[in-house]
Amino acid sequence: MSGQSPVDPDPGEARRTHLALLEREAELAAVLETAVDGIVTIDARGIVQSVNAAVERIFGYSADELIGQNISKLMPSPYREQHDAHIERYLRTGQARIIGIGREVEGRRKDGSVFPLDLAVSEVAFPGRRLFTGILRDISERRRMEEQARMRLRETAHASRLLELGEMTSGIAHEINQPLAAITSFAAACLRMLDSETPDRDLLTDTLEQIRNQGTRAGEIVQRMRRLTRKEEGARVPVDLNAALEEVLVLVAHEVRSGGIRVTRDFDPSLPPARADLVQIEQVMLNLARNAIEAMASEPEEARILGLRTYCAGPDEVTVEVSDTGCGLDEDARARIFDTFYTTKSSGVGVGLSISRTIVEAHGGRLRVASEPGRGATFTMRLAAEARA
Ligand code: ADP
Repeated sequence: MSGQSPVDPDPGEARRTHLALLEREAELAAVLETAVDGIVTIDARGIVQSVNAAVERIFGYSADELIGQNISKLMPSPYREQHDAHIERYLRTGQARIIGIGREVEGRRKDGSVFPLDLAVSEVAFPGRRLFTGILRDISERRRMEEQARMRLRETAHASRLLELGEMTSGIAHEINQPLAAITSFAAACLRMLDSETPDRDLLTDTLEQIRNQGTRAGEIVQRMRRLTRKEEGARVPVDLNAALEEVLVLVAHEVRSGGIRVTRDFDPSLPPARADLVQIEQVMLNLARNAIEAMASEPEEARILGLRTYCAGPDEVTVEVSDTGCGLDEDARARIFDTFYTTKSSGVGVGLSISRTIVEAHGGRLRVASEPGRGATFTMRLAAEARA
């Protein structure tokens, strides 16, 4: 008999278990230490129990400066002052603001700088002890990149507007030349009338009024151009889409005339205004109209129709449709036309539609196309209607 009872622990086995536990603990510690995300544990009073290396890196504090301190040290005001009350309320009522949810919060580094953090908190209950674990990620870099992307979009939108204008310059010059030529000849007529012994006062008045009207017309064209070249974004205002389409037609009047294009209008006269940035929405419509005109270039002249339509799709929605009888789009093109730099034109840049869609979506609206090859294309822009009082 060895005298060893079967229930006696095997000292060898116990040692192996102990070693395995130590090894596992070391492994876990290594995982926590090398994690990219910050991991911090606090007790039920908000006192920091442990932090990993990422927390030290993110906040600029050493572990020694944090352990034993209130977690609110890592928060900017006013959260810093409120945090104890949050924990206290959670422990009392079980009502969680962040535990188990995760959200974006602000952190405060040792140097006092404040930055955005993604934070997920979970609760770990040990017998007689509650611990909270926070996993946090510094997202300032992501925010910076988002801001840069937004800036780039604004810049590109502006550049594309200028590009549009560049392309339109000859058309616009022509557009302004007409009233100027009219003014010159009306003024010459007035001078001739004044040469006479008995100038016809009524005719003189009429002619001078013509001069005034033509001057106003030229001024309006310049105004529209100026609005389109402006850099800053306008505020969201009630926009009369019927009137905006008419303005866009003035800007493409030269191409319409020289292309022998017939324009059909089907405007809902009781269309409620859209809530929009007028300049941006005119930019979209201008782009759609110019694309439509260009798509009809190789159609026989009598078959070139630019259709403009507005209607109410629902009580809160207004729709603008720009259609053409041009070359149309196959499935592949329909899938790609809104991509940046997709173009089939030798002098195209391919940003017009991608910017147009971005603008419309930034308004909470939608820009769609329906088309078949050889059967023209219809672009539909939906926008939210201005809420009626
Ligand atoms: P760009 O006009 O510089 O090419 P866009 O982004 O405005 O850039 O348009 C991208 C492409 O979409 C055009 O090159 C053309 O192939 C196609 N497209 C746009 N509008 C129409 C249309 N009305 N009919 C047919 N194709 C169109």
